[in-house]
Amino acid sequence: MKKKELDSETIRKKVKSLIENFEEELKGKDLRQKVLSLVPVFHHLRELGKSLLGKEDVSSARDRIIFYFKKYPGVVINGDELLVVSAIQEYARRVRELRVQFGWSIISGVTAKEMAAENELPIEDIDADKMKPSDYILLSANQDRDAAHRWNIANEIRKRKDSVRAKILEYLKQNVGNPVTGEELRYVANDKTEWARRVRELRTEFGWPIETKNTGRPDLPVGTYVLESLCQSPEHDRKISDSLRGVILRRDQYSCVLCAWSHNDWNKSDPRHLELHHKKEHVRGGENTEDNLITLCTVCHDDIHKKKK
Ligand SMILES: [Zn+2]
Ligand SMILES: [Zn+2]
Repeated sequence: MKKKELDSETIRKKVKSLIENFEEELKGKDLRQKVLSLVPVFHHLRELGKSLLGKEDVSSARDRIIFYFKKYPGVVINGDELLVVSAIQEYARRVRELRVQFGWSIISGVTAKEMAAENELPIEDIDADKMKPSDYILLSANQDRDAAHRWNIANEIRKRKDSVRAKILEYLKQNVGNPVTGEELRYVANDKTEWARRVRELRTEFGWPIETKNTGRPDLPVGTYVLESLCQSPEHDRKISDSLRGVILRRDQYSCVLCAWSHNDWNKSDPRHLELHHKKEHVRGGENTEDNLITLCTVCHDDIHKKKK
């Protein structure tokens, strides 16, 4: 460890002397000469940045980038910082690899903005509107080992000649029950900005149970989306706005008002989820209001509708 610290200091002195010598070069007339004498300054600055991490297990640029992100999860990191710690120009490509092949949920400023526009980025102290495209956030310090597999699926779906909505739905269906990140959905949508809006429409207009931390699954990590089941909710229960949904779910404490089922009780052999039900049915004039809506698990919800028929 001590040797590495010494290295940083040695490099610093080197940079300093190079810059001092550059005073002479500046006075010269030959442009090429000036450029050539600046080159080693760049190289040494890069070495200096690299030496700051001072650890043996961060020998590759990619390792250094994720090391840095993991030190500051949930913090907006600018690409220029990654330039310093990675010491390579193509740090953006490494960030992509970390996300795609290694399953780190790093989102870019562009994706963050698109998520925030749909109220899906509930990180305190972060104003997504101020984020630049070259900014990044590591959303979770947990690596998702299945991500590489999922990105293969995403890659296949994104090439299809289909609408953005159809592609997103297909991707979610192939990952039913498992959270995927906004960054993946954006990729499946061929990076089209509309992706976040399409997700919301799939939920509110088409009745697909796609949940996020904000819409009924406080247990989910920020920035992830999960399709809870392959069944669309009945037509009469759709068109409930996300904000109203949130109000009802919070009021009912994210559990079924009949049997008290909540997501803490979820298991593979009984994969329920929560839905909203109109006490007075929509078709009979029941409205989308707080008084008329209750939270039910899918089992109780099915029962109630069977009894009515
Ligand atoms: Zn129930
Ligand atoms: Zn119902």
